Amino acid sequence: VLSSTGSRNKAEQISSSVPSSSIASSKSSPLQEQRSKLPIAKGKDALIQEFLEHDVTVLLGETGSGKTTQVPQYLLESGLARDGMIAVTQPRRVAATSLASRVAAEQNVTLGTSVGYSVRFDERFSPQTRIKYMTDGMIVRELMSDPLLSKYSVIIVDEAHERSLRTDILIANLKTIQRQRNGSQDVKGKGKNKVNATNPLKIIIMSATLDAEKFGRFFSGAKILYVQGRQHPVKIYHSSQGQVDYVDAAMRTFFQIHTDYPPGDVLIFLPGQEDIESLEKTIQIYVNQLPQDRMSVLICPMYAAQAAGQNSKVFVAPPANTRKCILATNIAETSITIPGVKYVIDTGKCKEKRYLARNTGGGFDTLLTRDITQSSAMQRAGRAGREGAGHCFRLYTVEAFKAMPLSAEPEIMRCSLSSSLLQLKCIGQDLETFELMDQPAEESMKSSLIVLYLLGALSLEKEITALGRQMAAFPLEPIYGRAIVASKEHGCTQEVLDIVSVLSASSKLFVESSEQREAVSEARRKFRHVCGDHLTILNVVRAYQEIARAEGKGNRKEWCRRHFLNERALLEASDIRDQLRQTCERVGIDHGVSCGDKDDPVIFSLGHGLVMNIAFLQPDGTYKQTIGQSIVKIHPSSVLCDKKIPAIVYDELVYTNQIYARGVSRIPKSFIVTLGALKQQS
Ligand code: ADP
Ligand code: MG
Repeated sequence: VLSSTGSRNKAEQISSSVPSSSIASSKSSPLQEQRSKLPIAKGKDALIQEFLEHDVTVLLGETGSGKTTQVPQYLLESGLARDGMIAVTQPRRVAATSLASRVAAEQNVTLGTSVGYSVRFDERFSPQTRIKYMTDGMIVRELMSDPLLSKYSVIIVDEAHERSLRTDILIANLKTIQRQRNGSQDVKGKGKNKVNATNPLKIIIMSATLDAEKFGRFFSGAKILYVQGRQHPVKIYHSSQGQVDYVDAAMRTFFQIHTDYPPGDVLIFLPGQEDIESLEKTIQIYVNQLPQDRMSVLICPMYAAQAAGQNSKVFVAPPANTRKCILATNIAETSITIPGVKYVIDTGKCKEKRYLARNTGGGFDTLLTRDITQSSAMQRAGRAGREGAGHCFRLYTVEAFKAMPLSAEPEIMRCSLSSSLLQLKCIGQDLETFELMDQPAEESMKSSLIVLYLLGALSLEKEITALGRQMAAFPLEPIYGRAIVASKEHGCTQEVLDIVSVLSASSKLFVESSEQREAVSEARRKFRHVCGDHLTILNVVRAYQEIARAEGKGNRKEWCRRHFLNERALLEASDIRDQLRQTCERVGIDHGVSCGDKDDPVIFSLGHGLVMNIAFLQPDGTYKQTIGQSIVKIHPSSVLCDKKIPAIVYDELVYTNQIYARGVSRIPKSFIVTLGALKQQS
């Protein structure tokens, strides 16, 4: 039952005794019926009342109860978004795009009209848009042009429990923005003492886990509400011993379920795209050998790098006598609910971004597969019990579960901060003195400041420079922003944009195939460039453009297949390039300038951005970083892999059993001299 006295930091349950307004009164399409059956629908009126009364609400509720899809529609229907849009932020782009398309369907409108989305390099919204699903990164970027986020009257910060870096930065900003827009010190005020004429802002924080204390404390006086989900019992099985090969164990468990258990879809949690693709292949091989009379299997992969709409089959009921097998990363943990799941296989692994800071400034981001947390394990198991009793098979022991940390460390405490630091500097904010829910580690702060200083984005006094502002205008990591700015000076903007666009695409350009390694290398031989991977990419882009000009769409596809290239990466890169060209125009860089067949200008420009990523050859054939002092090897995927090059520049370090430099180019001697000067500065 809802009480009207706003008790602090204590969850109040939206009870089913509150009469629900009939959502489906006029239209009774199957979609409307589904909507009205969601657990949250019963509390609709009570929720709206609470949103009207409080400027900040924290809404907790089990995954699948309808928070993300329904709350924005309730707000819209109740007229709360009359003077501005409703933003719903998501840490992941796939979640933003797929939820937007679902809500557009529920509203019976075309995606991009009243319901739209905005993620990096892909937008679908119009002046009519009322509900906008967007990544937290996109809204943080909007702060640079609209510091009060005045376009929005409600901002829903979703998946707040994930504590992504951008979500934390957004939350911190929202607190001050609300003070300014609502003109009152305490968040409970309903717009008294208005200082300016901007429309007031409502903030709704939504989370799938129940630890709301922290959000409540940060926004003192926030109303905390709880919507109950519909959770059926889930039987949990642990393996009796640890699994060395979790992909293989997942495969065996899947077929065990398929042969021994009644119908119901299977959801397998894996750490990343590579594991998903490899498991997809093996399962498919065995599925092809299943007897004709056996139930068939439909495999649906789901991970962040998929293009918008690519994973839509995951939401559709499978054909008769077919079991869906969904292979997903932790995207299916809380952000997206897939109907029909009765069995969950949990490998207990996820990928985690972590920044290895160095006091010298040579830190780097790593993406490592690691054990999940207890909180994740519980969420994963919960996915099996949404529509009825379910089963969860954990490919790890009970002891391993107990040894897991309770919940994940906020990203701000373990990720590279340079990009966010630079963006905040643009709006005159200082991450160091900012009021955040959790403060970042001092050494990663220091390391990021050094990076920005070396890139020329900050002065010694930590003030943003004109160069820094230009770099920040690009929706890219500062290193690539710097490379584009440098390309102006070196007269090769066209080339640098071509390369950076490919590097920024979410899908990989080169298709790897362990069985056909020889054939792959033969097919791509003509693209190989003596200077390394960056110019090899440029060769591919140019050859593709040539084919695109000369031949039809079908041939282009075939050409990519023949050369083991991922056409989607090239198409995506072409969209990205269009957008980067627009940014170039805004900051006064002529994107048409080309250096023709010259290589050095391109490498120089990239080198200006990748100034932290330079290493020299050592007598034993390894390379030593000039800043950071790590010993690295050239990654086997590089065209320079078995070459001895006096000096290299690289895109990133990847950390497996040793440290590899990936995306490598040779640096000409003349540039090393310039570098010497740079190094002395540091
Ligand atoms: P919550 O945010 O509380 O986890 P959601 O609002 O995301 O809940 O989900 C509510 C319901 O909408 C779920 O039953 C889910 O299956 C359904 N749903 C969400 N997205 C889609 C989609 N793209 N296609 C079909 N159903 C969807
Ligand atoms: Mg949700």
